[in-house]
Amino acid sequence: MGLLFLIFAAFKVFFNPVLGCQIPFNDVSLIGNATHSSDTLIEAAYRNGKLEGFFPNPATGWHDVVSNPLSYFDPWPPGVSQSGSRPLIVVKYCFADDAIYNLFPTLVRDAWNVWYLDSGLGIPSEQNGHRLWFNHAPLPDNTNKDNKSCYLKDGRFNTIFPPETVMILAQPYGRAGASSTTGYIPKSKNPIPYRHRMWLGAALATHPFGKSVIAHEIGHILGLIREHQRADRDHYVAFQCHNLRGYAEMKIQVEMHPKRPGDTIDLICYNPAVAKLYNFASADYTIGGLMQGTRFEFRTHGSVYDLDSIMHYGSTQFAQHWPEEVDSMPLVKWQARGPNFDPKGKVPTPKNADPIWEAQKPSRLDVERLKWLYPWDPRRPSK
Ligand SMILES: [Zn+2]
Repeated sequence: MGLLFLIFAAFKVFFNPVLGCQIPFNDVSLIGNATHSSDTLIEAAYRNGKLEGFFPNPATGWHDVVSNPLSYFDPWPPGVSQSGSRPLIVVKYCFADDAIYNLFPTLVRDAWNVWYLDSGLGIPSEQNGHRLWFNHAPLPDNTNKDNKSCYLKDGRFNTIFPPETVMILAQPYGRAGASSTTGYIPKSKNPIPYRHRMWLGAALATHPFGKSVIAHEIGHILGLIREHQRADRDHYVAFQCHNLRGYAEMKIQVEMHPKRPGDTIDLICYNPAVAKLYNFASADYTIGGLMQGTRFEFRTHGSVYDLDSIMHYGSTQFAQHWPEEVDSMPLVKWQARGPNFDPKGKVPTPKNADPIWEAQKPSRLDVERLKWLYPWDPRRPSK
């Protein structure tokens, strides 16, 4: 077990996404490019007052990410594909260019297979209880390579794909890991073409866990958020911010050069807005989180906390080094976990906590969540 964990840890450390697997404020315009880094774009947005809504009075409460009618984001709407009188919900993707297509000619499809074949989601049908499908945008002319890509060779958008098509592209700066937008972004909120995106690190193409990482990203695209950001997570897991990679440097940075008066490392660790402003990995671990225009909390619909969820991080992600004990891991599970477990005053040790193994496929509850968001019966349960 110990050796296996170490091997596992080695892989995961290699794949630590630098950006985090959720993009800043779910806004692709804040992702770095050749001339500006993500850090400078986010800080400029803050200085220009564009992030004001993200530092709300805590008393104003939280929203979930897609199922709440007040949310900025939605579940994906029905598409044009028909099954009898029942419109299917088909989420389509295209590749930004031939290079990324050639890296992942089948792996994105394979990752969807993990959902619908290996995890029991099944094809959209009354029997399976959902209307959801995820596939490559149709290629009207398979002999024309341009038609595989979201862009034409001359750099223009390939207009054969609808503008809400999910664009798959390489991680910025050749980084490893993966990140995605979350849920369906209504055109009224953000009209830019290909505003739904999935960034994949090239190393995923040959990595043994590449498929499960992409299955996790597909979960984001369809509207799921990280399980360990649920409001009740402290009864099950312990988040140890000081074990995140870069913590010491971040602490010095905020003490020497705070971006807002009064900012502290604790605020960066536990306030999702401040975490995003400093572009620190703690943003992936705060209870609740935030997206363009809204702060959210999980709406769990009564489901139990799910350590087997593919949306739950493992213990070694964002770790400083290859951790061997729970006291050096950013996220661990309590042995006595449960809805009534009180973690107050407790510190994780090998006697009371264990490492979390990242799931390799969606759990039964992950599948249930997608069926709830995309039911075959369009009469959605009341929100
Ligand atoms: Zn993620």
